[in-house]
Amino acid sequence: MPGVVVVGAGQAGASLVARLRKDGYEGRITLIGEEPAPPYQRPPLSKAYLLGDMALERLYLRPHHYYGEVGIDLRLGARVDRIDRAARCVHVEGEAIPYETLVLTTGSVPRRLPAGIGGDLDGVHVVRDLADADAMGPQFGPGKRVLIVGGGYIGLEAAAVAAKKGLKVTLVEMSKRILSRVAAPETSDFFRALHAEHGVDIREGIGLEALTGEGHVSGARLSDGSTLAVDFAIVGVGIVPGTALAEAAGLPIDNGIAVDAEGRTSDPAIWAAGDCASFPYRGARLRLESVPNAIDMAECVAGNIMGAARAYVPRPWFWSDQYDVKLQIAGLSSGYDRIVTRPSAAPHTASFWYFQGETLLAVDAMNDPRAYMVGKRLIDVGRSPDASLVADPGVDLKTLLA
Ligand SMILES: Cc1cc2nc3c(=O)[nH]c(=O)nc-3n(C[C@H](O)[C@H](O)[C@H](O)COP(=O)(O)OP(=O)(O)OC[C@H]3O[C@@H](n4cnc5c(N)ncnc54)[C@H](O)[C@@H]3O)c2cc1C
Repeated sequence: MPGVVVVGAGQAGASLVARLRKDGYEGRITLIGEEPAPPYQRPPLSKAYLLGDMALERLYLRPHHYYGEVGIDLRLGARVDRIDRAARCVHVEGEAIPYETLVLTTGSVPRRLPAGIGGDLDGVHVVRDLADADAMGPQFGPGKRVLIVGGGYIGLEAAAVAAKKGLKVTLVEMSKRILSRVAAPETSDFFRALHAEHGVDIREGIGLEALTGEGHVSGARLSDGSTLAVDFAIVGVGIVPGTALAEAAGLPIDNGIAVDAEGRTSDPAIWAAGDCASFPYRGARLRLESVPNAIDMAECVAGNIMGAARAYVPRPWFWSDQYDVKLQIAGLSSGYDRIVTRPSAAPHTASFWYFQGETLLAVDAMNDPRAYMVGKRLIDVGRSPDASLVADPGVDLKTLLA
């Protein structure tokens, strides 16, 4: 029997095959990945691994021998070029691999700068995979000048690593503030101040006009007319879902591979999970780009392949590490109409609570695991605290759970 074939050996793909085996699936499982490395965690690529504080072995989600031991046929360095839905097989460099059930966990693809503005010069990097981090790492020498394009979490994390390593860091963000797509102005202010303390030159409301250089990047021209000399550049301007394979196979795409509540595409033999998939959520479609979503959705789909018929309900959370600050985010902030700040006397510590009316939507907690934990529990069960209690540092947050 052809069994389950999973395309994309990243966080979601690895979680899905492990869950299938754990839950007793006895059929054949094939996990196909384009990258040469066995499945690994990506978050350290812009944090501890880039800093040189984490060994390669610790990135791997499981030891390489695990896959063979539990009967998972792991094919690495193998790119699936095409899905043949009529014949129920995928094509990998001329070989047809049959499937009974196919799962697409193809992740996402980083946006790159166009070649016309210097995006193809040597020394212009993105941070999506291990090869990107390994190519960039040797450039992080003290005194080097790096330009970071984009003030989202990945750009800011790379800036923190570079500043810690003694580089001269300039970060440009086209919109009027860093993190504008994902966080409230209060959180942007917190991180702007943190980076300023470490000497990072953050320029907001300023776009990149072009990277310049002969073969290798050596300069940048900004939208305010200024120019910069740079030794290398890191581009963190977002990602797009990896939908090409699904689209070519005629599957519906809607900000990602469109799946139903259980994770199935319009073809009952094909499922999707992780960064590449958009699923129904509160009357709309949602696509999340995070490790917790990749794991939870993949595990839910694994159960559904085995007949659980369970709708995927995300319980969103996320984190970021910059210098000595651990940011933990619970919930989804979109639609908020006010921010309640919980002050803290401790340095680099705060939490911002996103409300829509009286409803708590999300919490950004900086170095405050208690605020994160309480906020997450309340959001998970759909309860909202009185905002005045949240804002009062004299109130023990744990009492909000009572
Ligand atoms: C630098 C960085 C830092 C991050 N930090 C955080 C963080 O702090 N917290 C957090 O929650 N999330 C973070 N994320 C996001 C998180 O890593 C992703 O959301 C998660 O990896 C998504 O898992 P996935 O399995 O959907 O996709 P991926 O892990 O990207 O895996 C997809 C895999 O599919 C492969 N593939 C694609 N097409 C094909 C094909 N045709 N044939 C074969 N293989 C194919 C790709 O090569 C890739 O290996 C970070 C991401 C990056 C890049």
